[in-house]
Amino acid sequence: MTEIIDGNAVAESIRADLASEIDRLADAGVRPTLATVLMTDDPASETYVSMKQGDCEEVGIETVDVDIDPEAPAEELYDTIDDLNADDDVDGILVQMPVPEHVDKREVLRRIDPAKDADGFHPENVGRLVAGNPRFIPCTPHGIVKLLDSVGVDPEGKDAVVVGRSDIVGKPMANLLVQKAAGGNATVTVCHSRTADLAAKTRQADILVAAAGVPEMIDGEMLSEGVTVIDVGINRVDADTEKGYELVGDVDFESAKAKASAITPVPGGVGPMTRAMLLWNTVKAAADDASVAVDL
Ligand code: NDP
Repeated sequence: MTEIIDGNAVAESIRADLASEIDRLADAGVRPTLATVLMTDDPASETYVSMKQGDCEEVGIETVDVDIDPEAPAEELYDTIDDLNADDDVDGILVQMPVPEHVDKREVLRRIDPAKDADGFHPENVGRLVAGNPRFIPCTPHGIVKLLDSVGVDPEGKDAVVVGRSDIVGKPMANLLVQKAAGGNATVTVCHSRTADLAAKTRQADILVAAAGVPEMIDGEMLSEGVTVIDVGINRVDADTEKGYELVGDVDFESAKAKASAITPVPGGVGPMTRAMLLWNTVKAAADDASVAVDL
């Protein structure tokens, strides 16, 4: 029987744990606060930010919402980040990507105080993760570590194949799986668009993480029996539905399920975990800042 990994349920239990840690922080006079910065009119980005704010409210995290006109000079965003860095009431800062083309994305990531870096994308935090001393771990790969743990899959000694090498998913995922620590100790292969004979690589996987952004590109023929499949992809494809589209992953669910011992669905797998781990990073930032020990 293939186990369908229920990301909604795991995320719910993480939110419950966080809510009790937030209560303990409140006893110490600390109220975690996340600042979200939006510099776009893109409806999808607006939706993401409002979902993140809703998640915060649900567990008792305060939010500060900053909207910047997408036509404004880049300096307005940089100055906003500086102000939020200096604001003692703000624990975590999230700048919703993508930012407009005239803004230097690298400068945005560099500018955020690494101690308030709720996304875990600041070069210092990336370096700490690579060096095996992580502080804030990017939300999607961190959530995947928790999902594997939730179904009792220990990467130690296993062959893990990550399809995708982005800075936000593929690379940090590979780093976590290979790290010499709990949740790691796997032998990791990282694949990308220039990989020769992808199927030969994916068939070696005991754990497959698909993060390419290509609808259903990995099917059961590309997998071995008993693999654990984590499908990060979120792709809109035309469909005969009310909205005219449906969401599919990077994995062909039905054929992969026939081979897998466990698999995440899309939606309802990785997505809810990404949202939950943002809350995690915010609570951690608040606790670290106040030097309050929390059980995270
Ligand atoms: P990027 O576009 O930044 O990276 C995609 C990666 O996949 C690249 O490394 C690219 O290779 C590789 N790739 C593309 N096509 C192929 C192919 N045919 N064969 C092998 N490798 C390929 O995407 P992200 O990492 O940001 O996101 C990946 C997917 O995950 C998207 O669908 C995104 O929507 C989704 N996502 C979901 C999240 C969630 O919470 N569930 C969170 C974040 C992302 P190369 O480097 O050579 O270009």
